[in-house]
Amino acid sequence: MCRYIYMNGQLVEKEKAVVSVYDHGFLYGDGIFEGIRMYDGNVFRLREHLERLYDSARSILLNIPYTMSELEDIIVETLRKNKLYDTAYIRLVVSRGVGDLGLDPTKCKTPNLIVIAEQLALFPKELYDVGISMVTVPTRRNRPDILSPKVKSLNYLNNIMVKAEANMAGANEALTLNTEGYVAEGSGQNIFIVKGKKLLTPPSYVGALEGITRNAIIDLARDLGYDVREEPFTRHDVYVADEVFLTGTAAEVIPVVSLDARMIADGKPGKETHNLLNHFRKLVVEDGLKVYPEKNQVGWE
Ligand code: PMP
Repeated sequence: MCRYIYMNGQLVEKEKAVVSVYDHGFLYGDGIFEGIRMYDGNVFRLREHLERLYDSARSILLNIPYTMSELEDIIVETLRKNKLYDTAYIRLVVSRGVGDLGLDPTKCKTPNLIVIAEQLALFPKELYDVGISMVTVPTRRNRPDILSPKVKSLNYLNNIMVKAEANMAGANEALTLNTEGYVAEGSGQNIFIVKGKKLLTPPSYVGALEGITRNAIIDLARDLGYDVREEPFTRHDVYVADEVFLTGTAAEVIPVVSLDARMIADGKPGKETHNLLNHFRKLVVEDGLKVYPEKNQVGWE
């Protein structure tokens, strides 16, 4: 249970963690965020998440009034204060801050920094065993030259609409295409297809977030000897793939067994997906910032 939220320099009780209705994050989705995960007391790829956060901030002209190591310390402090020792989900939000009702961001003098850390609601185990269904949704992924999908902004309406469209079609997840019709990603996950010995994922210029899990899987798969390529592909390539899976902080590596009512191969999660998920789960407990360095010392409990 999360009891304390970090807000602008203080850890405050959950009920007291409130922002003004004049915050431009609330009024306009003006801000950025990160979703991060702790496994067994290790925050997985925290630096990479923070680098993406600072890149997003630079792109939208938002000045984060903290250094990366200060943010690291704040995250550690929030986890410790909430007595989260093992697994946790961390949400880092930086909004433009309080302004007036106009759009002008220069009216917002101080960004609001919020860190929420709580027990993760895991994806149901059953989905990893049976796989998920996807549909291609009518709404296209935001164009990179309009609102770059590389910016993890608080403006997630595009993602929310595609998720709603998948729900209405009775599918577990949405496949989004870019405006040229190339496969981009899920509503909030990256996509990979396996064909023969090759593992393909769309390059981020197609219009996908550069997922931390995606990048970890690319490195892991290369180390394991897979031929991994970042190449554009179409829905047809997904239909005829041997295996398909999605990656993301919450989803980890989740098998996809159908797209648009076409079964992927025999309609069961594939063995390469399973292999990568197993290796990924080993990696996450080893690789990360240790929140409790004293854990292995005598007297720790
Ligand atoms: N795409 C989108 C649109 C997302 O919101 C996310 C989740 N952050 C991802 C992909 C997966 O990224 P990551 O592996 O960094 O969680």
